[in-house]
Parts: sequence; C-alpha cells; structure tokens
Amino acid sequence: MILETKGLTKRFGGLTAVNQMDIGVEKNKLTAIIGPNGAGKSTLFNLMSGYYPVSQGQVLYKNEDITKRKPHQVAKLGIARTFQSTKLFENATVFDNLIIGNRLRTKSNVLDTIFRTPRLRKEEALSRKKAEEVLAFVGLLDRKDQLIADISQEAKKRIAIALALATGPEIVFLDEPAAGVNPEETDGLAQLIRKMINTGLTVCLIEHKMKMVMELADHVIVINYGKKIAEGKPEDIRQNPAVIEAYLGGGS
Ligand code: ADP
Ligand code: MG
Repeated sequence: MILETKGLTKRFGGLTAVNQMDIGVEKNKLTAIIGPNGAGKSTLFNLMSGYYPVSQGQVLYKNEDITKRKPHQVAKLGIARTFQSTKLFENATVFDNLIIGNRLRTKSNVLDTIFRTPRLRKEEALSRKKAEEVLAFVGLLDRKDQLIADISQEAKKRIAIALALATGPEIVFLDEPAAGVNPEETDGLAQLIRKMINTGLTVCLIEHKMKMVMELADHVIVINYGKKIAEGKPEDIRQNPAVIEAYLGGGS
C-alpha cells in the first residue's frame, strides 16, 4: 500500500465525521471512495492531505507517518488533491491560474512569492514549463490564454486536475471531478483519469456517478456515517446488500 490510514478519526464538536477509518490505497491503482452525502468522504481527503488536523489515528504514506504534516508539506511528498469546488481566478487566464495555483499549493510562505529572488525566478521558469506540460496532458493547451470566466464547466474540471498534477504528484485525490458536467463530458473526464493511471499515477476518487466509478475503479471503499461499511471490486460492491441499502437505493 502506498497510502494507509489507521484508526483515522475526525470529530467536529459532537459529530464524528470520520470514525476509526482503516483504508489502504494501492500503488498505480484507482481506489474509489463512495457513500451518501455527509458520509465523511471529503473530510477523509482533508485529513489525508493535511488540511484538517486529525482527532485520532494515523495517516501513513510509504510507511512514513505523515499525520501531522501541513498541506504544502504533504504536496511536496507527492500527494496532490482537487477540491469539491475549485476556486479559480475568474479574470486571469488558464495559464496564470496554473502558475498561481501551483505557488499556493507548494509554498508555505506568501512572502516568498512577493519578493522575487533569483532562486524564485528560476523556479518560476520551471513552473511555467510544468504548467504547459500539464495543460497539454489535460487537453487544454490550446485554451491556455483564455480567461477562466470564458471557459466551460468541464474545462474548469480539467484545470482542477491540472493544478493537482502541476505539483508533480505520485498520488492524486480527486473529489467529485465530474460533478455538474453532462454525461458526454463525464466520459471525457473518465478517459483523462484513465490516462493518469496509465502514466503510472495512483488515484483516489470520490465520485457519485456510479457508471464512472464502476468503469474506472480497481477497488471501491464504501463509507457511511464516517465508517467503512464495505470494500471490494466494483462488481462485488454493486451486489453488496449493505451498500445497496445505504447508498445505491435499490440499484441506481
Ligand atoms: P461527504 O464529502 O461524504 O459528503 P463531508 O466529509 O463533507 O461529507 O462531511 C461529513 C460530515 O462532517 C457532515 O456531517 C458535515 O456537515 C461535517 N463537516 C464537514 N466539514 C466540517 C467542518 N469543517 N466543520 C464542521 N462539520 C463539518
Ligand atoms: Mg464531499
């Protein structure tokens, strides 16, 4: 396992959003995390990527305890994530969003970004090269000079993925990457995610669109009320009575 959680728990006051969660993510596979709204899926991502302090338990990356790392430290270790709703700068270009986003994800100190030292200028050249590379990967290089305000929802979803890829990760967490796009566009995004796996990345996917999950996942983890209630291959999960009861609502 490239990533594991052990007894991972998050409490918000009286609510236990993630409760004694033990999961494992296998290298170069797609692990899907499914469950009803409010199940604790996004909270799990926030814990594993350092965005929320953990109440109890551990996060292990390549057998190293990363439970207390800050988001930019986690990013440097090779873990990237998208957000359920990605905040993009609407009046900046696609390309500039990549540059700014990359800085925000990998730097702890905003002053670094403001006072541009020679070292930083060198980094910036690298960052521009990386931005072009990831925009090409997600199929947006020809739209790099367009303003965010002028591009489609689907293109914004691709940018969210590009932002994650720009940090040079080994593992990428995608939080509902196909929310709010039509079925055709969803297929296109599924192909992009498949391409990520094919280039050697490990992907952890939260998604409600079951067709996409069933097509892409090697392993599915089902959570409800912060607890893991089932896991297995997509075809097994589909037939698991507890899962049908909790989530699929009788076979959707
Ligand atoms: P999911 O992504 O599975 O829909 P979330 O992880 O977003 O669910 O939320 C799980 C539970 O934790 C919900 O009851 C939600 O209201 C609560 N929760 C999530 N984030 C916070 C927060 N920052 N503060 C308080 N409660 C939160
Ligand atoms: Mg969520």
